[in-house]
Amino acid sequence: MKKIILKAGKEKSLLRRHPWVYSGAISRVEGHPSDGDTVSIYTNQKVFLAHAAYHSKAPIAARVWSWQQDERIDEAFFYRKLTHALKFRKELGLSQFSTGCRLVHGESDGLPGLVIDQYGRILVMQIGSVGAERWREVILDILKDLFDPDCIYERSDTDVRELEGLIKRTGVLWGELPHDLIIEENGLHFAVDVMTGQKTGFYLDQRDNRAKIGILAKDKEVLNCFCYSGGFSVYAKRAGAKSVLSVDSSEEALKLAQRNFALNGLTTDSQEWQCADVFQMLRKLRDQNRKFDLIILDPPKFAPTASFAAKAARGYKDINLLAFKLLRPGGIVATYSCSSGISSDLFQKIIAGAALDAGISAHIIAQQMAAPDHPILLSFPEGAYLKGLLLKVSD
Ligand code: SAH
Repeated sequence: MKKIILKAGKEKSLLRRHPWVYSGAISRVEGHPSDGDTVSIYTNQKVFLAHAAYHSKAPIAARVWSWQQDERIDEAFFYRKLTHALKFRKELGLSQFSTGCRLVHGESDGLPGLVIDQYGRILVMQIGSVGAERWREVILDILKDLFDPDCIYERSDTDVRELEGLIKRTGVLWGELPHDLIIEENGLHFAVDVMTGQKTGFYLDQRDNRAKIGILAKDKEVLNCFCYSGGFSVYAKRAGAKSVLSVDSSEEALKLAQRNFALNGLTTDSQEWQCADVFQMLRKLRDQNRKFDLIILDPPKFAPTASFAAKAARGYKDINLLAFKLLRPGGIVATYSCSSGISSDLFQKIIAGAALDAGISAHIIAQQMAAPDHPILLSFPEGAYLKGLLLKVSD
């Protein structure tokens, strides 16, 4: 039997069903498990806690597969988990609105380190833990069986793989990737760059928040910062925005965004595209005395973990303060953080500080999060990575 025995008192987070064990919590390892092997976790008093994937060198030394002592971690286990994740996505009824969907969302689906996104008949698999890596072939076979997809593409190229001692890997695992992959979302079309795009090719998590912006954008002058493939810009323009300025530091992203405008038959008049650093661009716009009615700030992750929180807080404050100053009285800011290391409380405090320094007062008109195909397990608050505030600034 491969086992890990925790130090006395270190069982508390597992008893609350948090699925990670940090290496410092381990008292003893028995049975010489290799990295990726399934181990059983016990308290110092020899009480069973969970079955988990083990890692001898990573900061997270075990990631829980199951809380049930009699559950075997085998092919049938993964079949059950994946079937369950799929059933849940069907229940959400998303297919009426979108052909893109997150089918598996790691820890939240009881499958630590595994992400699977669906773009029509294409699946993209992303593995970020040595435990999920161990079951890669099994997972692949189950996906073929359950979905009968045209293609399964692997985008296992996130930085977390380095912490797990895994090399980055991308490529077609099954079938053929279509030359042009286009999804439909709320009646709009978006090209998805599965091979080299951000995440697995598209920000599925912002689906509902983009739709909300669509409701608010009519007749507005819009500034979309960190626009990537232009999601918020396309929704705003369809809704009748007077103008949209989209900013991203990636040429490739802007090309994709322009393509998405064309795909939706949206005219490029009153459109501006800027390939620039948002921190500098906001200052330039301030110096030019430009004003906007609706500003979207959806930056990349500034704080992957809580240890980056202080630096990240300065970044969020900076861009939000500048955005408030570019806003006409009565304008709206949609501001996001996708940093796991920044809680929603802290995010709200940072934004309140930015508003105070900008000399404006504002109301929260919506608190936003990732779309429901990215569920948050109550016992795993780290899953609440995406936080958004929709703010109406006073006239
Ligand atoms: N809002 C987008 C997702 C944004 S992802 C959507 O709904 O699809 C974050 C984007 O920020 C990426 O496209 C990345 O290229 C861009 N980016 C990262 N750092 C930046 C910077 N300093 N200035 C401008 N863009 C940046």
